[in-house]
Amino acid sequence: MANRDPTSWMRAEYESLVAQSLDWKLRVLQGPSAPRSIVDGKTVIMLCSNNYLNLSNHPKVKRAAREAIKTHGAGSGSVRPIAGNMDLHEELERRIARFKRREAALFYMSGFAGNAGLISQLAGDGDAILTDELNHGSIIDGVRLTKAQRIIYRHRDVGDLERALKEADVSAKKILVVSDGVFSMDGDIAPVGEIAKLSESFGAMVYIDDAHGEGVLGDGGRGVASHFHVEEKIQVELGTFSKALGVVGGYVAGSNDLRNYALNKSRTWLLSGSHPPAVTAACTAAIDVLETEPRHVKKLWSNTKYFKKRLVSLGFDIGRSETPITPVMLGDSATAKRFSDRLFEEGVFALPIVYPMVAKDKARIRNIVNAGLKRQDLDDALAAYEKIGKELSVIA
Ligand SMILES: *Cc1c(COP(=O)(O)O)cnc(C)c1O
Repeated sequence: MANRDPTSWMRAEYESLVAQSLDWKLRVLQGPSAPRSIVDGKTVIMLCSNNYLNLSNHPKVKRAAREAIKTHGAGSGSVRPIAGNMDLHEELERRIARFKRREAALFYMSGFAGNAGLISQLAGDGDAILTDELNHGSIIDGVRLTKAQRIIYRHRDVGDLERALKEADVSAKKILVVSDGVFSMDGDIAPVGEIAKLSESFGAMVYIDDAHGEGVLGDGGRGVASHFHVEEKIQVELGTFSKALGVVGGYVAGSNDLRNYALNKSRTWLLSGSHPPAVTAACTAAIDVLETEPRHVKKLWSNTKYFKKRLVSLGFDIGRSETPITPVMLGDSATAKRFSDRLFEEGVFALPIVYPMVAKDKARIRNIVNAGLKRQDLDDALAAYEKIGKELSVIA
């Protein structure tokens, strides 16, 4: 059809998102992501970054990035398997493995690239992947890239996981169980101890995506497997430097066999240029800070406990959160959006999470507590919550 317009569908699609208020409106940070940041020209208390420990501003981490540019340049020049494997990458992987108390680690461009590139190679035709219904989108995409049978089990429901394992056990050659460690919308923790034990009894491999648990849970921030003391029963731990570690980049940690297999098979790893020196060295420095300065994780938790306790005593419903991810449940999406806009006017930056990211009646503001926030920042944010909560009749 000569009169076919090749791109008008894009605008139609976009306009329909706008009409439903489902489009993203991008805010602009004019400076670092910090406990008090400048966003769209206004200084606000940051309650929605993933920079839990404020390591993106840590002097050691920033210095490591500057030094690496001096010694190694701005880019790596290639993919890792050809000419882009620098001593900095190898050093980082040794440090990740040591920190995670694992044999080996492999550094990916991102956590997303890790999930997409590795899950897709761990199971295939004739195998089964068992996945929590609320797993992260990058896990869902990784699963979609395989021919394995996909069995979804109910959120954090170990009984339903057992049902799925029995179903898979009948015919699957290999079974892979995949779960987020901490779920990013509710801040609840997967029952990783029970998942590990149950999976072991079926000879299934366990893959935990701990993007929101690294630097937050476990001994010294070693993550959810450490939190439940089941490291030896989890064969694959995926983590990211884009959240608590304050930089960017994903990794998997596990056995030497896992690393050897992953680096020969993951296409997102093999076919994508490696991280620049600045990023790689900053990630190593971030691990160094976690190992040598335990105060950041401690402060994160004392801030979290204070903020949650005060929100609950004001009368807010914080759902089933067990971590610094603290939703304030508001019901319908219009209220959540209005609440977030008013918070911004009052100097607090926290975004609404609405349908389709969560159910229609489960709209909320999602706060992420940060170790860099001072008591005064939290009190200022809580005062705004109280004022707006009353204004919008969410609390009495
Ligand atoms: C953020 C996140 C990812 C993606 O990590 P990036 O390194 O930012 O790509 C993967 N899984 C989960 C559970 C996440 O929350």
